[in-house]
Amino acid sequence: MGTLGRKDLLDLEGLTAEEIGMILDEAEAFREVGLRPVKKVPALRGRTVINLFFEPSTRTATSFHLAAQRLSADVLDIKVGDSSVKKGETLLDTVATFEAMDLGVLILRTAHSGSAAFVARHSRASIVNAGDGMHEHPTQGLLDLFTLRRRFGRVEGLEVAIVGDVLHSRVARSDVWGLLKLGARVRLCGPATLCPQALAAVWEGAFPGRVRVVHELEAALEGADAVQVLRIQLERLQRFLFPSTREYSRHYCLTSARLRGAKPGCLVMHPGPMNRGLEISGGVADGPQSAIRGQVANGVAVRMAVLHLLAGSEEAA
Ligand code: ASP
Repeated sequence: MGTLGRKDLLDLEGLTAEEIGMILDEAEAFREVGLRPVKKVPALRGRTVINLFFEPSTRTATSFHLAAQRLSADVLDIKVGDSSVKKGETLLDTVATFEAMDLGVLILRTAHSGSAAFVARHSRASIVNAGDGMHEHPTQGLLDLFTLRRRFGRVEGLEVAIVGDVLHSRVARSDVWGLLKLGARVRLCGPATLCPQALAAVWEGAFPGRVRVVHELEAALEGADAVQVLRIQLERLQRFLFPSTREYSRHYCLTSARLRGAKPGCLVMHPGPMNRGLEISGGVADGPQSAIRGQVANGVAVRMAVLHLLAGSEEAA
């Protein structure tokens, strides 16, 4: 076990502010490694890291791969289409097969909420949740916190708007837990069907007065230091939750005109992949306030920190 003192990273709900701070500090050190001509440290030498993804991924899969490689681990990417899962093998049998080959860390993405915790209970390897259904995506939450901390020097006291399909978003859940634990205030914004008042009740109970739900984008942006725009999760929409995509974008697309209602310099984030023109305009996504590319770069440093703290040796980075 590494210095975090935990075997797994399953969510941000279960982490303390101190643990989150430790990961972000460690990510700062690994960001520096990414700027060196030789971007490698021996922290995971001799360990095997497997990326097992049951849902598509561009950013998360590649940045975990790169992070493990930069820590000198042996890293494998398993495409579910090529694995025995397609032949009916259970997830636990698949993981047991990897364990027989001395698995150190399994990075797991599935469509099922709770699956990472389930596997973690039955595996000796470290499990990193890379997104489980609508539940959490903790490394995305951490990289968003890291991006905010680098821009503002702190997370405490920030006003952060999270806009869009909050209901189906594992990113929103991780972001909200992380932001609240580090002392930010959160505005959740979207149509009532995608951003119901009831969703905020758990956070309201844990952090009274620090989460509010608003249904107008203009109100969510007023005085905001940062805005995280969420992708409409078309693959998880089981019924029509808004009249049409045109209607949605008319009310909730983050455009330059709307962004002018936020604080000057309001940071724009999006976890990707973006639906340009639906939830965010191209002008904002590529504009001067956008941190979207920075989020991707920060993802590698944050994932190096997570892998190292969960499973690395004490050897200096
Ligand atoms: N890439 C993020 C995720 O896997 C965000 C998204 O897909 O909307 O949850």
